[in-house]
Amino acid sequence: MKKVHNFSAGPGILPELVIKQAAAAVLNFDNLNMSILEISHRSKNYVTVMDNARQVVKDLLLLDDNYEVFFLGGGASLQFAMVPYNLLGTKAAYINTGVWSTKAIKEAKIIGNVEVIASSEDKNFSYIPKNYTIPTDADYLHITSNNTIFGTQFKEFPKSPIPLVCDMSSDIFSRPIDGKQFALIYAGAQKNMGPAGCTMVAVRKDVLGKTERKMLSMLDYAVHIKAESMYNTPPVYPVYVSMLTMQYVQANGGLELMEKLNNAKAQLLYNEIDRNGLFTGTVAKEDRSVMNVNFIMNNSTNEDAFNKIWKDAGVSGLPGHRDVGGYRASIYNAMPIDSVQVLVDVMKLAEQKLG
Ligand code: PMP
Repeated sequence: MKKVHNFSAGPGILPELVIKQAAAAVLNFDNLNMSILEISHRSKNYVTVMDNARQVVKDLLLLDDNYEVFFLGGGASLQFAMVPYNLLGTKAAYINTGVWSTKAIKEAKIIGNVEVIASSEDKNFSYIPKNYTIPTDADYLHITSNNTIFGTQFKEFPKSPIPLVCDMSSDIFSRPIDGKQFALIYAGAQKNMGPAGCTMVAVRKDVLGKTERKMLSMLDYAVHIKAESMYNTPPVYPVYVSMLTMQYVQANGGLELMEKLNNAKAQLLYNEIDRNGLFTGTVAKEDRSVMNVNFIMNNSTNEDAFNKIWKDAGVSGLPGHRDVGGYRASIYNAMPIDSVQVLVDVMKLAEQKLG
């Protein structure tokens, strides 16, 4: 089979070994002569999977025993609602850096009082706001670490006097971070963590139980913590494949190596965008995402010809988000630098033919 260079924004590329292990477990999980798809989530073998998946998150994010980790369905989008539902008493502060932050803000406003303390909407979300004051009377500050659609990324996180909450869906495990600077981290699995179908939540226990709200069980973090992420049937297979992916990262150089490789890939691609007269990067240089690289063609009449060139080279998933246009190369952890080189070569070829 001809190798596809998969630049999809998510669900995105996963390590080849993980795909093989995941496929094998569909046929025979843990030598039980049963498929992972037909095994009880209460079986000893699967409880071990869930325990391991929760533990590897803690290991990678350097979380201590003050934190609980669990996996839910409903996508990162459900967390837009569950975060304020569980944490918002008086007021919440949000920084708006794009479509996903905007959606998080919309849900929080349904639950309670929201103050948007900074936004980059004035310049089509092409930068990360730098100057803002964090209100000390808010219950938490919510940020989106990586703006998947527009391609910006927090390089440093706010030093927050109030609990910091982060949607890390599109850059989790891409670099070493001390997770303890956050009160809550959530991430949909389908980029660096695993396949679509589960969302990881890591929460510091002291921020829970502070609102007067009467809680629906399925939306109550405390319920999921008490049940050790098994209050109801969890997304069995997505959690399993996420566990494999995280263990793969842990066993292959950890987040330090991921950061080194991710920086090398991003630099290779951004250098070509900046060098090649056919293309322009669309966001502020200092805020450029290491995961989602956005660019446009300076002359849009060249797009059809460029599209043919990259498709012929086996490149896939390059068109920008439907709301933004242009191009977006998502270069998640599992993307080999060789595939990024293929894209760079394609851009050089386009320059020769069209420049
Ligand atoms: N937050 C971010 C940063 C995202 O990139 C996405 C989409 N992948 C979401 C939230 C929404 O995730 P989901 O589709 O899992 O609800």
